[in-house]
Amino acid sequence: MMGKTHIFIGTATALALTSADTPVEILTALAGGALGGMMPDTDLDSLKNISDINTKAIAGTITAVCFAIDFFFKCGMIQSIRDSNHTIVLTGLVAFIILYFIGAAADHRSFTHSLLATVIYSVVIGMMCRPLAIPFAIGFLAHIILDCTNKKGVRIFFPSKRKVRLKWFYASKKANIAFYYIGIALTVVFTAISIIRWLFL
Ligand SMILES: [Zn+2]
Repeated sequence: MMGKTHIFIGTATALALTSADTPVEILTALAGGALGGMMPDTDLDSLKNISDINTKAIAGTITAVCFAIDFFFKCGMIQSIRDSNHTIVLTGLVAFIILYFIGAAADHRSFTHSLLATVIYSVVIGMMCRPLAIPFAIGFLAHIILDCTNKKGVRIFFPSKRKVRLKWFYASKKANIAFYYIGIALTVVFTAISIIRWLFL
């Protein structure tokens, strides 16, 4: 699947599964879902092809916009970082940078597409910003499950070499584009529902 498909499937899934209905829950579902949806594909030879750069730019923009909204309206994301133990936040940041390079060096669809990586990356994200951890994990898992549906297979039980492949789709352009638009549409609908629930329920 395209990176941007994973991002919007990540945000839609995180919004739905966290049943976000407060500003901080909505922002963390969007930022965490986008980052989690992007992260497994850091095992691609990134920053050399334009679509990888675009994927990182989209996830980075969604996250930056969420943090900017949080900064101006004080929803609680930045406050949770301020309230945390700063040593833990810094340790998380260093661990995240190390993980990024480990991921970049890994074979495609191996370590970064595993349940093990879901736990490790999510814990590290949670060390930096606790409310992001669960939506990030959901976005990350959604990415892995979506990749399992194509013929290439995913080493979801890494370090086991066994590949899971459901062969529902063949990473064909059509399925990819359909999921991309479904992801965007559901993200918009679920964000609207979350805002309505926050305002009126
Ligand atoms: Zn992937």
